[in-house]
Amino acid sequence: MIQAQKGTKDILPEDVLTWQNMEQKANEVFSKANFQELRTPIFEATELFARGVGDSTDIVNKEMYTFEKSERSLTLRPENTAGVVRAYIEHGFSRLPQPVKLWYKGPMFRYERPQAGRQRQFHQVGVEMFGSAEPSADAEVINLAVKYLNELGLNDLEIEINSLGCPDCRAKYREAIKTVLKPYLPELCEDCNFRYEKNPLRILDCKVDSCKKIFEKDEVQKVILGDFICPECKEHFEKVKEYLTALNIPFKENKLLVRGLDYYNRTVFEIKSNNLGSQNAVCGGGRYDSLVETLGGVSTPAVGWAMGMERLFSLIQKFKSKRLDVFVVSENIAETFKIIDELRTNGFSAEFDYANRKFKKQLDKAAKTAKYALILMEDELKSNTVTIKNLDSSEQVNVSRDEYLSYIKI
Ligand code: ATP
Ligand code: MG
Repeated sequence: MIQAQKGTKDILPEDVLTWQNMEQKANEVFSKANFQELRTPIFEATELFARGVGDSTDIVNKEMYTFEKSERSLTLRPENTAGVVRAYIEHGFSRLPQPVKLWYKGPMFRYERPQAGRQRQFHQVGVEMFGSAEPSADAEVINLAVKYLNELGLNDLEIEINSLGCPDCRAKYREAIKTVLKPYLPELCEDCNFRYEKNPLRILDCKVDSCKKIFEKDEVQKVILGDFICPECKEHFEKVKEYLTALNIPFKENKLLVRGLDYYNRTVFEIKSNNLGSQNAVCGGGRYDSLVETLGGVSTPAVGWAMGMERLFSLIQKFKSKRLDVFVVSENIAETFKIIDELRTNGFSAEFDYANRKFKKQLDKAAKTAKYALILMEDELKSNTVTIKNLDSSEQVNVSRDEYLSYIKI
């Protein structure tokens, strides 16, 4: 028996209404803020992610689905910011009035150890805003994440924010972190040792307990809590916080929040839920002012986020499948098709028995699946009428073919 691959899941019909609702709410919330949907391909040149996500990240180092085709190296997208930036450059979006505001949804692929809240094919919804370096852009995208989560009925989430500063302040911070952690290198995990050379700030993101203990040491805390941010970056961050406060969005500052990707600067944020167990982040994002230029475009500031839809799904209330409106009970298939068509055209869901079963069996099926049975047997056909039976109350009426539609109340 061939089965679905490890880390992949079928989304079954019983869950699809809930997924459709997540997608529809995304469309509604983002459209109202004048964000437009962009759909990019599921595979891209491997180099896009190597350069765009960064080769010191777990994603690029361990998690990519990469394959060769016609001597090209291709990769199933592990995230979508790089793809959106590629499209922004390729279609000359920098010539449009800025900011350009985009959103997306769709599957992403990462070769990770599958566990609760972690799959190899999973889905993200995300927004990206290009062309504004202002703190109002940071606040707007965080605002949209919160509004979207609220629309899905999620209110008790924790928002953590931090500022990584600009490349200048980052360089000073990086050196200080390197200096203070140097004596601890033998105690830090293998990944942290690798990050120490490539991207030392990422060490602070390590989830290994023995590493986390080292971050708690006084001299390390002093560096982490120290003020490396230059006055401009500080003012930017203060403004973001001021706007979030004006929006009534509660947040916590977390100096350890550095995010997994290489390209972030200034504002970074994460939204967490306490109801998710250890994979508790629903949303992660931040500002990435250098990425467009890194990927070959004109220097364009940008800010955005991505949310894991499986994690959202597990938090939100589920929709039940809707009951069928009308089941047509008849032994005359040609007449049934006519009436079924009329019902569907008028906005009702309708089906019939495709198995030539007898009247009684058809009525049983109708009672199990539908709100109304529409009976079209010999008597009805002769008198050009239909019998409509309300399957909840068992009341039934015989009415003419011209006016039966008004008797169906959904
Ligand atoms: P984590 O620390 O959980 O690995 P990440 O930093 O790799 O997260 P991002 O790349 O920021 O995650 O992706 C944004 C969101 O996508 C995450 O907050 C999470 O909700 C979701 N996500 C990431 N990886 C997976 C996965 N393998 N399976 C399901 N959801 C995921
Ligand atoms: Mg990850």
